[in-house]
Amino acid sequence: MNQVSFVCCPVCKSANHTHFISTKALMHKLNNECYVFNKCIACKAVFLTNRVNESVLNDYYTDSYLPYKGSGAWGKFSSFVERSQKQLDLKRVRFVANITESRADLNILDVGCGNPSFLHLVQQKLNAKCTGIDFSDYGWKNSSFDKITLIKTTIAEFEPSGFFDVITLWHYLEHDYHLGETVEKLYKCLIPGGKLIIEVPDYNGISAKMQKQFWQGWHSPRHLTLFSKKSFHSLFAHNKWKIVKHLRYGTLDAFTLWWLGKMEKKQINWSNSMEKEFWPLVFLKIVSFSFFIFEKVFPMGIQLLVIEKK
Ligand SMILES: [Zn+2]
Repeated sequence: MNQVSFVCCPVCKSANHTHFISTKALMHKLNNECYVFNKCIACKAVFLTNRVNESVLNDYYTDSYLPYKGSGAWGKFSSFVERSQKQLDLKRVRFVANITESRADLNILDVGCGNPSFLHLVQQKLNAKCTGIDFSDYGWKNSSFDKITLIKTTIAEFEPSGFFDVITLWHYLEHDYHLGETVEKLYKCLIPGGKLIIEVPDYNGISAKMQKQFWQGWHSPRHLTLFSKKSFHSLFAHNKWKIVKHLRYGTLDAFTLWWLGKMEKKQINWSNSMEKEFWPLVFLKIVSFSFFIFEKVFPMGIQLLVIEKK
């Protein structure tokens, strides 16, 4: 049995929920698997009701999973993609600098760091002490990052040697199997006044409404929970946390999320080289520029929060 039925909302534990959307396994080889997301009536979180067992999760992180393939998936255009990744990392570093007022000697933890290019940059730019954790060392095992501490572990098993000023979770929380326990652990890892920076997909954005079952925010079966404003307030209890910022856009640009959904609908073979998709992507980016320029005005599918430990 590789699937587990989930009958309660993973955020507020309510058993009162209704069908929201069904999808196939996304960014995966062609398949007839069916994943069912329900919406919690109480906190409005949308969650996967038939999760795959964590033990078989690796079957969904294959050569069809673009983020693991990195820029190499783009063949002769890989340098363009690397540059775009650097710009994304830089946006994230600036965001951290902004909310910490560029304080020196920050102690930063990145959960689900994958390829730790963000941490590498934050260490260089802010001279921060950086730690990255991930359940897989795929993102760093063939590289050397001597000024960063990288640990192959889960957040549950992570044993920090000190407390962190900032913990970043760039597209991690929607993957988490044990939300309540994770939030408790994050609380224990932060100094009082320390901040969580959380970026996740936003199912209330325009791209989810347009692309329906192909929207990459579902990312079935890797994504388990899609959050609403109310669900964040439920997960981060007011007596322990303060939500200081909730933006309906993020560092990941909405165009990228939309383009991935477009490729899903086209049923591309994700394990092939992406080379031939490069110029159509550039063309689309140019013609859709005047639409995505409004991503800070109209929510298009990404949300970014800063949550402070009281
Ligand atoms: Zn709920």
